Amino acid sequence: MKIPKVVRSIISSRLIKTYMAYCKDQDYDTFSRSTLYNILNVCIASQKKNLHGLDNTTADGMKAMDTLTDIIKKLQLFGLEEEKVEKLKNIFASANQHLKFEIKGHLATSSTCLDHCTTFSLSDSKSTQFRSTCAHEHSEGCTKCSIIDKSLLELSNTFQTMNSIPAEIVDEIDHDLSRAQEQIMTWKAHCVRTVHQDQAKQTVLGNLKPHQALIVMDWAMKFLPVRHREAQSDFFGKKGVSWHVSSVVTLDIEAEPEFKTNFNVHTLVHILELGNQGWFSVAHIITDLLQKLPLILPLVTEIFSKERQRWMLPLCAIDFLHPKYQCKWRLAS
Ligand SMILES: [Zn+2]
Ligand SMILES: [Zn+2]
Ligand SMILES: [Zn+2]
Repeated sequence: MKIPKVVRSIISSRLIKTYMAYCKDQDYDTFSRSTLYNILNVCIASQKKNLHGLDNTTADGMKAMDTLTDIIKKLQLFGLEEEKVEKLKNIFASANQHLKFEIKGHLATSSTCLDHCTTFSLSDSKSTQFRSTCAHEHSEGCTKCSIIDKSLLELSNTFQTMNSIPAEIVDEIDHDLSRAQEQIMTWKAHCVRTVHQDQAKQTVLGNLKPHQALIVMDWAMKFLPVRHREAQSDFFGKKGVSWHVSSVVTLDIEAEPEFKTNFNVHTLVHILELGNQGWFSVAHIITDLLQKLPLILPLVTEIFSKERQRWMLPLCAIDFLHPKYQCKWRLAS
């Protein structure tokens, strides 16, 4: 069976409800509810991969919060006591508030708080190249930051102890709950990465020398929807032409001494009519960029990159692209 490439924007339970209603209308039999959930579970992976991006992560996280509120309402419908409902509602309201507005202010590149130290959170236990060690102990925890994990745990525990829910609804809640949990953890991780990357960028910019440049790259598609806070999944330009934008930041050496921190920004746009937004395209774009740069900025011999994608090009791959550049690809995520 060929699965059409469509962008799904409604939650699974609604999708299944609609589909079952349609089947009833058309007067034919369909799979059981749990089989339909299994089908959706299989399809989800490919959907997520295509649409990963900054705005999606946040928008998905916010949607997941709505899903969790719906779940609490369902539990109430099936007999959860008023007192517990209120408690769950409150704890999720705080978790939501925290993720939306506060968590970024808590995080720091170096902190003795386990929840706040981004160096600790982002260190990869499997690879020494993606890891650094803190010079301090992580002896503290933060009650506000741990409310996120706590709220999710509390809800799934409550759900598990309830036996008054019909089997088909259990399937539905189970599916929605684990998906929402995943999205919220992804949202939290995204906040950590954003803070860490911004800090790395500030450090690079603060110490930039005249022969150095910082390159910030991303697909333009990801910038556009930010303004009206739409998920990328609602944005239909995706399938068409891809714009890749590279901003090259250098020191403005002609600036007056008192403006010594002035920067010049050169923006290079690569337009791809075909090809996807994967690493292969990016490798080509970087090759082209490094060939064009000496013509535009002859002074620059060292580059820092803030790559927005989560994967990083291996150092060696960059090194032979252009012998002139002694590349310093700063690891930011
Ligand atoms: Zn991301
Ligand atoms: Zn630390
Ligand atoms: Zn905190």
